[in-house]
Amino acid sequence: MRHLSFPQSTPGASRGSRPHRRGRQGPLILPVLSPVKEKIIMSNTAFPAATIVGYPRVGRFRELKKAQEAFWKGKATLQELQDTAADVQRTYFERVTAAGLKADNYSIPATFSYYDQVLDVVRLFTLVPERLAEAKDARGLLDLPGYFALARGTETLPPLEMTKWFDTNYHYLVPEIGAGTEIKLNLEAIDEQLEVAKQAGVKVRPQIVGPLTLLLGAKAEQGSAEDFSPVDRLDEFVAAYAQVLEQLAERGVEWVQLDEPGLTVDRADNAKVAELAERTYRALAAAEKRPQILVTSPYGSLRENLPALLGTGIEALHLDLVHGVYSKAELESVSAAGVHLVAGVVNGRNVWRADVRAALKTLEALPGASEGAVSVASSTSLQHVPHDLALEDPAEVPVDGLAFADQKVAEIALLARGLAEGEAAVEPELKAADEALARFAADPRKHNDEIRARAAAVTAEDFDRPTIDVRRAAQADLNLPKLPTTTIGSFPQTAEIRRRRAEARAGKISAEELNGFLRDEIASVIKLQEELGLDVLVHGEAERNDMVQYFAENFDGFATTRHGWVQSYGSRCTRPSILFGDVKRHGEGLRGEAFTVPWSSHAQSLSDKPVKGMLTGPVTILAWSFVRDDQPRRETANQVALALADEIADLEEAGIRIIQVDEPALRELLPLRRDEQPQYLDWSVNSFRLATSGVKDSTQIHTHLCYSEFNEIIDSINALNADVTSIEAARSHMELLADIPETFVSGLGPGVWDIHSPRVPSQEEIESLLKAAIGYGTIADLWVNPDCGLKTRDYEETKQSLRHLVDATKAIRASL
Ligand code: GLN
Ligand code: ZN
Repeated sequence: MRHLSFPQSTPGASRGSRPHRRGRQGPLILPVLSPVKEKIIMSNTAFPAATIVGYPRVGRFRELKKAQEAFWKGKATLQELQDTAADVQRTYFERVTAAGLKADNYSIPATFSYYDQVLDVVRLFTLVPERLAEAKDARGLLDLPGYFALARGTETLPPLEMTKWFDTNYHYLVPEIGAGTEIKLNLEAIDEQLEVAKQAGVKVRPQIVGPLTLLLGAKAEQGSAEDFSPVDRLDEFVAAYAQVLEQLAERGVEWVQLDEPGLTVDRADNAKVAELAERTYRALAAAEKRPQILVTSPYGSLRENLPALLGTGIEALHLDLVHGVYSKAELESVSAAGVHLVAGVVNGRNVWRADVRAALKTLEALPGASEGAVSVASSTSLQHVPHDLALEDPAEVPVDGLAFADQKVAEIALLARGLAEGEAAVEPELKAADEALARFAADPRKHNDEIRARAAAVTAEDFDRPTIDVRRAAQADLNLPKLPTTTIGSFPQTAEIRRRRAEARAGKISAEELNGFLRDEIASVIKLQEELGLDVLVHGEAERNDMVQYFAENFDGFATTRHGWVQSYGSRCTRPSILFGDVKRHGEGLRGEAFTVPWSSHAQSLSDKPVKGMLTGPVTILAWSFVRDDQPRRETANQVALALADEIADLEEAGIRIIQVDEPALRELLPLRRDEQPQYLDWSVNSFRLATSGVKDSTQIHTHLCYSEFNEIIDSINALNADVTSIEAARSHMELLADIPETFVSGLGPGVWDIHSPRVPSQEEIESLLKAAIGYGTIADLWVNPDCGLKTRDYEETKQSLRHLVDATKAIRASL
């Protein structure tokens, strides 16, 4: 059963110091299984006609983020944090009821989280691995500070690991469960939400990550027996969930939502999982006293888990009808089983306005629709989209084509009304939506014939370079030593850098002033690297706010938002760009204007050593943006690639000999379904090649990957055809090198400094990592570099660490 784990992997967890402990509320330890005589299902309220699977939690203006961070710094009390949390929830209730959800019928899920929905379950059951036992409070439970300690670590405790939530950009905390991990119920977080809702006059539906998703997404506690897997403890967890259900019923809750996206993932043992799903929900449905149960299955298809769930006695089942693929027969089986179908037809993962007329047709055709056995919902939680389009300036974003969370709620409410009352009843709204979509479709920014003709004219040659030997020979005059040292691109983004950029944005300093400041910054970064004795230099990326947004701002076809924040993890939010039109660089003509060249040339003019040109690759630009869905992704990727190819050509023209094209998100977009993976790898690898293959043989192309385990796609990384590839490796002690095949011809820079933590690695440590790397022996051309960019580090750590890196390299070179 050990392969029962998500195939996705891990970015660095952020560490922070543990906030000062404050007074706690009274204990709430629940009794073990109280004896109940008869079976009671809280069933006065039918499932609501319109609902959502979840909603953004950080607040319209990131109020929660600000309150969390203030609390962590000791600048706000626990009470202040809780007050903000209550405000954020009240605003949520107001927004979604204004958009058409009802307050009194369980349409609204209790979706709030202080950090992460999986960590919420860790708190609910007190799932604390032995090594982190210190995080528990005097009651032996996780209070809010203890909960944050698991998320962020403390001076003495490392945090739980973090990993990607299915194929989204959200990251959850990975529970660590051992054979002996004690399960201790603690409903105080749920109670807090129920109380806020009650005060606001809202009947909310508690939303809890389900037992299978919890256990399949957990890892075995360190030191567990080889063959132990958290799912081995399923029955105990089912009993614990049953107790939670009973407690909720005691509180008068009539509907509960159990999220089971874990059932939509392809696994080595799908049939086994289906068996477990059936067993689990049979047991939960048989609980003696409970609310009615809605199971959700966002992000994909249930496949064999669908029949498994249908006979169990659950009352309602949500299907993702956007990302999932369901046959007519499958859909019929839901109504035939008497299970209420919650149809996820409004896309929870993108920002495009729904074609509500088409969605209504889809809904009307669903078996059971005419008998009232179908409700309308989002395909996934709306946590993946920003709060509200109304906060944006219509001059800056193409509002006709967009819908953020609040707008999606309105679409769902409209569809529910259409389904209940017939198309005619909502005709004016459908017509208005048709018109907006038609205006958006006709937006000239979406159709630039020149860009399209160019993308259509690419041929196989545009994706190819001569073999690595030819390129290496042509690059020999770079005169690099053995084990060349370099960094990944960014240098520390100091408070001053961020302040100057903000001042320029606000018009407080002129563009020239900012420019002058940044040029000086580059000069000092170059000087530092020369002093340290690095071999291949970078300009430091001080001009960039974000590695994708910077490109979005310099390309046609993208919009950037003011308030379009989306939670990435905890208090971390990103503002994805919106890729809605045809892409080229800003400026005159098809090629537009170079924008990285002035910085790179300035940097190169200050040193005799090569300075790398620095670009973000097409796959990562797509992965971290909301991408148009009116044409195949391959076409969009190729347009972005050609715009990058123009920039690369201009860098080359300006005398830049080494150009790095970062693709940290390559692994991230890999589809969950195995049968969709080859197609993805094909267009993604090709778009990188299209961007980089137009260069001279003498130009050295680097790429950089991080945030993930890459072993699974190592062949695709090789197929990128880069001359040098840097990969995050320090935390796993170079383990990934074990899987590098002989056929991997690119130079390789496995990271020797884990930049996700504030620790300075010693020279000896780096030497030992380098020796380990050399020991693998398969790498023709080994480079020495940190795991990733240095923008989150400070200068003191950076200087010390890079000095150790250079000294370690010198020592190893001498010993060769
Ligand atoms: N060049 C980028 C930087 O150094 C790469 C960032 C990344 O890989 N996420 O910041
Ligand atoms: Zn990186």
